[in-house]
Amino acid sequence: MIKGIKGVKDILPEETPRWRFIEETARQWADRYGFHEIRIPIFEVTTLFARSIGATTDIVEKEMYTFPDRDGTSLTLRPEGTAGTVRAFIEHHRGADPLPQKYFYIGPMFRHERPQAGRLRQFHQFGVEYLGTQDPKADVDVIALLWRFLSDLRLPDLTLEINSLGTSTDRAAYLPVLVAFLQTRVGQLCENCRRRIDTNPLRVLDCKVPACRAATEDAPHLTSYLSPEAKDHFDQVLSTLSALGISFRLNPRLVRGLDYYCLTAFEITSSHLGAQNAVGAGGRYDGLVELLGGQPTPAVGFAAGLERIAMMLPSERVPTLRPSVYVASFGAEGSPAGVRLLDALRQVGLSALSDYRATTLKAHLRQADRAGCRFAVLLGDDEARAGSAVVRDMESKVQETIPLTDLPRYFVALSKNF
Ligand code: ATP
Ligand code: MG
Repeated sequence: MIKGIKGVKDILPEETPRWRFIEETARQWADRYGFHEIRIPIFEVTTLFARSIGATTDIVEKEMYTFPDRDGTSLTLRPEGTAGTVRAFIEHHRGADPLPQKYFYIGPMFRHERPQAGRLRQFHQFGVEYLGTQDPKADVDVIALLWRFLSDLRLPDLTLEINSLGTSTDRAAYLPVLVAFLQTRVGQLCENCRRRIDTNPLRVLDCKVPACRAATEDAPHLTSYLSPEAKDHFDQVLSTLSALGISFRLNPRLVRGLDYYCLTAFEITSSHLGAQNAVGAGGRYDGLVELLGGQPTPAVGFAAGLERIAMMLPSERVPTLRPSVYVASFGAEGSPAGVRLLDALRQVGLSALSDYRATTLKAHLRQADRAGCRFAVLLGDDEARAGSAVVRDMESKVQETIPLTDLPRYFVALSKNF
C-alpha cells in the first residue's frame, strides 16, 4: 500500500469544519484591518528564499525542499510566505501604486523538519504583510490583528512577547559586545551556537537548548543599545498596545538573525502547546524589499501556524454544519419525484440528501439519523400521485403533509431557525 509522506497530513472531513472556521475567522479579521488576499505560488526559484530568508538560518541551512527543474534551474517549495509576497510586490510594480499596501495569505508551507506534534513538513500559515510605512501604529495594527484573531478563537493562555532589534547601526554597535560575551561562554554552548558566534551571533540568544539558554542568561541586552529613534519607535509601539488593552511581556532574547529585520520583533505563545509553543511570530523588515531589488520600502508582518491553532481551538467554537433535509422516496413514481425534490431544495440553498441504496422506510430513517438531518420527507407513489409528501421532524417525530410545490419555501422559512 502506498502511504502519505512522513510529516505530511491529510485533513479528513471530520476536521475540515475546524479548519474552515479558523480560515474564515482569519479572513474576517484581515478584512477588518484592511488587508487584501494575495495568492502566491507554492514554488519559486531557490535564490529568492536563500537571499530573503538568509543563508545562515535553520530554514535555508537544512529545512528547504529544493529540486532541479528539467532545465537545471534550482526550485524550492515555499518554506514561508513573505519572500513570495515581496517578490510579487516588486515584480508587479506595486510600489508605483499608492502606499501603504496590505496583503494577507493563507496556505501550505514546506520545511524538512523532524515531525512531531505541532511540527510538520507540510503545514499551513496565515500571514500578513503591511508594506510602505514605518509608522509604529502599523506595527501595532499587525500585532493587534494577530492578537484579536487568536483571542476571538478563544485559544487558551496566550502571551504576547515583544522586543526591539534596533536599527542596523544599533546592531552594529551591539554585536561586537555580544560576540565578546559569547566567547567567554563558548565551552557551555551547543555545537550549532559555537558556529553561530561567527555566522549569526544574534541567533544564539534564541537557541532552545537549555545549556545555551543558561549560558546566555546574563548576556548584554540589545535594548540597551537602542538609538533615540529606535527607542522612540519601540516606546510608541508599547504605549499604543497598552492603550488598546493588549498586554505584553518584554523578552530581550526574542531575535531574528537577519540584517533586514529591525525594530519590532514579536511572538505569540501559548503554554498549552508544550515544546512547540509559538503560535505566530512577526516583526519589521524594512530592508527586505530593497534587498530583493525593489525601491526601499519599510514593512511589517507576521505568520501564524494553523496546525497549532487547530490543536488549541476549543471544540465548542467550531460550528456544526448539519444537512437540513433527508428525502426518503420509494416506488416507480415516488423515486423520480424524490430526485426532483432534492434538486428543488438544493436550488433554493438548502442542504438536502438521500441514500439511493435504501429501499425501506426503516433504512431511509436510519440514514437520515446518521447524517443528523433535522427533517425527513417521506415520498412514495401515493404521495407523488397526490402531489404532496409527509414531512417528519426527526427530533419530535411529528409528521405533517405538505404539497410538493410548497416544500422548498416551507423549509427555507424553517431553516431560519435551524
Ligand atoms: P519554531 O521556533 O517553532 O521552529 P519558526 O521560528 O521556525 O518557529 P516562523 O518561521 O516564525 O516559525 O513561522 C511562524 C509560525 O508558523 C510558527 O510560530 C508556527 O506556529 C508555525 N510553524 C513554523 N514551522 C512549523 C512547522 N514545521 N509545522 C507547523 N507549524 C509551523
Ligand atoms: Mg523553525
